[in-house]
Amino acid sequence: MSAANTIQIEETSQADGWARTGHMPRIAIIGAGMSGIASVVKLREAGYTDLTVYEKTDRVGGTWRENTYPGLSCDVPSYWYSFTFAPNPDWSHRFSYGPEIQAYMEKTARDFGVTDIVQFNTPVTDLVYEAPRWRLTTGNGDEEIYDIVISATGVLHHPVMPDIPGLDDFEGDSFHSARWDHSCSLEGKRVGVIGTGSTAAQIVGAIADEVEHLSVFQRTAQWMVPLSQKAYSEPWKRTLRTFPFLHKLLYSFYYVLMTRGIGGAVLGDPKSQQRIQDMCEKNLHDHVKDPELLEKLTPDYKAACKRLVLCSDFYPAITRDTTELVTEGIEHIDASGIVTADGRHHDLDVLVVATGFDPTRFILPTRVVGEGGVDLEKLWDDMPRAHRAMSVPAFPNLWMIEGPTGPIGNLSLITISEWQIGYVIQCLDEMKRQGLEAIAPKQEAFDVYNAAMREAVPNTIWVTGGCNSWYLDKTGLPNLYPWSASRFRKEMKRPDFSEYRCIEEV
Ligand code: NAP
Repeated sequence: MSAANTIQIEETSQADGWARTGHMPRIAIIGAGMSGIASVVKLREAGYTDLTVYEKTDRVGGTWRENTYPGLSCDVPSYWYSFTFAPNPDWSHRFSYGPEIQAYMEKTARDFGVTDIVQFNTPVTDLVYEAPRWRLTTGNGDEEIYDIVISATGVLHHPVMPDIPGLDDFEGDSFHSARWDHSCSLEGKRVGVIGTGSTAAQIVGAIADEVEHLSVFQRTAQWMVPLSQKAYSEPWKRTLRTFPFLHKLLYSFYYVLMTRGIGGAVLGDPKSQQRIQDMCEKNLHDHVKDPELLEKLTPDYKAACKRLVLCSDFYPAITRDTTELVTEGIEHIDASGIVTADGRHHDLDVLVVATGFDPTRFILPTRVVGEGGVDLEKLWDDMPRAHRAMSVPAFPNLWMIEGPTGPIGNLSLITISEWQIGYVIQCLDEMKRQGLEAIAPKQEAFDVYNAAMREAVPNTIWVTGGCNSWYLDKTGLPNLYPWSASRFRKEMKRPDFSEYRCIEEV
């Protein structure tokens, strides 16, 4: 290794922590969703076995546990949306439905002994850095000391309720898409859905033929790519069981297909963008013939500016006689429905709020206090940033899987998580080699990385596409990785240790 690629040691450590004495580091993992599960499996594989997972609820699965709405599915192909260490020959469809993914998460967690080390119903409320370790406090008031903390809390897990006057006055059943009330039957009811994002598109497609009348309240039209859903046959599943190497081929095939296809369009390649644009326009025109509806459903920005919606059920559902697309703005909500800006009252029995999530939270609301008493929430100020999407200068030994500015969009986040965990493991190995108790990214490295990102984002479709989306932070800049997935993969493959400093015990 070149001298330039070494963690800078500021002075000789007096600590007798894990890395110096050869002890096993105590590692806390926050969250038992897919990145928490992957963290445990990969860390153990690398020889790190003193692991505890904290999970705020009573089950593993993260987003797949939390979202249970009708039509819930993953628009990333199943063979790619899988752990590399747990290939699944039994996927029933090319794009899996939510309950099947949740079952896969639970099975993987059981098979790999993850469930055994999860403390369920135990939210982490506080993390305070006491060099070179972290004091972790749970909602039950318990305190533990850890050498390393890995946040695996996910990106979109704080539902946003819209700021619409009268929302609380509605007397029918009303719930956010991520808090679906399964005790509420929709059969024969007048249902309203606010929003037309990826979630709403799936819900609308799934419930349109069950309800008496469906009103879909659209603020901004969405471009939609058809989803080529397909059921897998038993003989095909048997083939996969017989020839497990096929999983690797399928995983790579879908990785290349999705990253080249959609990735190129997002990152400013005009040809890929045009291809996606054409695909969306054809999809719309193939399904919607009524000129007035067509106009309402045609976005005034470029495809892939907002996260692309991959869905084949929305247009057939929206063109039904019993469905109405409402594009007048919502003025207020009252006891029996929604009043739009044209003064019309839309009578509703049930109101589904599919207005998305707060994308600025990540590990928050856990109070995270780093070196010198720096508070992470204040530091981020609703604009979360991290070095290589995973760490922050004043917060040594704290790693965030799926942290801010990572590659998200239409990718398999399982893949991204696994790459990130691989990076963390290399950092731990390096700490062990050098006997370092705590490392954090240098401020300078963090600044250079984030400046490069700021320079690159204006070229992406998220900015040039002329839309507003949850990708943009309060300054109007996308909070996403603005380069290709393969570049991120390279970054993760070999950490540049010269970007880190060693923090000594005081
Ligand atoms: P979203 O993409 O943020 O969409 C929210 C929708 O609600 C938008 O149509 C938005 O309109 C509308 N809205 C928000 N506030 C409103 C208000 N005050 N009045 C009227 N309309 C309002 O949220 P989402 O659909 O839940 O999806 C979030 C993300 O979850 C996706 O982008 C994706 O990353 C992920 N997801 C993935 C899958 C998958 O299959 N992999 C499925 C579902 C979700 P505007 O467009 O005007 O803001």
